[in-house]
Amino acid sequence: MNFQNTREFAQQLDQQDELFNYREEFIFPSVNGKKVIYFTGNSLGLQPKRTKAYVDEVMDDWAKLAVEGHFYADKPWWDYHERFAVPLSEIVGAKPTEITVMNTLTVNLHLMMVSFYRPTIKKYKILCEEKAFPSDQYMFQSQAHFHAQHLGIDPQEIIVEIKRREGEHNIRLEDVLAKIEEIGDELALVLIGGVNYYTGQVFDMKTITAVAQKTGVYVGWDLAHAAGNIEMKLHDWNVDFACWCSYKYMNSGPGNASGCFVHEKHHHDKDLPRFAGWWGHNKERRFKMEPVFEPVQGADGWQISNLPILSLAPYLASVEMFAEVGMKKLIKKRNLLTAYLEFILHEIDREIDGTEFEIITPANQEERACQLSVYLHGQGRTLFDYLMKNGVITDWREPNVIRLAPVPLYCSFEDMYEFGQILKAGISK
Ligand SMILES: *Cc1c(COP(=O)(O)O)cnc(C)c1O
Repeated sequence: MNFQNTREFAQQLDQQDELFNYREEFIFPSVNGKKVIYFTGNSLGLQPKRTKAYVDEVMDDWAKLAVEGHFYADKPWWDYHERFAVPLSEIVGAKPTEITVMNTLTVNLHLMMVSFYRPTIKKYKILCEEKAFPSDQYMFQSQAHFHAQHLGIDPQEIIVEIKRREGEHNIRLEDVLAKIEEIGDELALVLIGGVNYYTGQVFDMKTITAVAQKTGVYVGWDLAHAAGNIEMKLHDWNVDFACWCSYKYMNSGPGNASGCFVHEKHHHDKDLPRFAGWWGHNKERRFKMEPVFEPVQGADGWQISNLPILSLAPYLASVEMFAEVGMKKLIKKRNLLTAYLEFILHEIDREIDGTEFEIITPANQEERACQLSVYLHGQGRTLFDYLMKNGVITDWREPNVIRLAPVPLYCSFEDMYEFGQILKAGISK
């Protein structure tokens, strides 16, 4: 499509946008009396208007029914989490039994590592990406420390990072595969962010999973930036496990419950260690208070505690909205909106002097999704402050990067045009 950097053209794209009305489903903060241009849905999604009713429902049931809400609420609490299995399985490409919802993301990754990272003295290395999200780095370090003592190995030996090449912003697939080969038999686990939080790079999860598994290792994915953003086929790709948070592209509210995928092939493996609790126990017998743990045959068998229903309620509102829209339409709009934002950025840069900033996210549509990360060569932080003061909500990542996520559910094409104008004014000042 031949894009134009004009308000009329952007409005025309909005008129043709079949998801345009969903913008009205969300609550936008205001700056200077105007709705903000919200680019941080990759960090905390906006609040859907319908969410409050889901939370109120739980509050009302609690008031009216108290303990009986577990069984007699309209949406009973004891199996409330099972409502997520079907809609989430469609979002991440899984079977419903492979999905569960519990805890928060880093906690779930730790729990998955109990089952899928079982190092021996010969096979103990974890492969991850360089500059992984800090929480993942701390998780790897603490897991390494936890196991290293018993194994009598140096924790430094455990974590292997896949590096970017000198002068490049993104990691090459061939380098990931080469690293897997290089580590060989010592590799125990591959655990990478499916979409890199900093650059927005989308990894080829299918190929990496297949190649790594040939060496007899488990492969897991941190889908914090992937869930609700990209199309996935976790089951078909034979991924061993995956976890994601719900408050980024999935708009479930701050610190909310995490989703978790465990491949069907592991559901019957009695030897797989796990940390257990009563909510993972055989559903029919859960309240018989038996002494011996017998896990549910499915991802729900990794549950531990009874669930925070007040925290699940907003997530349920969100997955029901995703079920209405479907990933296909979202991805179609996402591609066009991201491409339009990319065009606007190039136009503004060209109109100034062509050296102000640089998009570090891959230009290839297969390797990127909603986010464009922009390296500011010029003013840096002062430009970021200018944007924020003028109603463009973005975030700052050291040393000099702003991340822009034009979320297809609630960002418009006119937002992109308007952003370009504000950016230009900020640079010219
Ligand atoms: C956002 C994010 C997290 C956050 O973890 P929490 O446990 O939810 O605080 C972890 N990993 C990645 C890759 C993220 O993008």
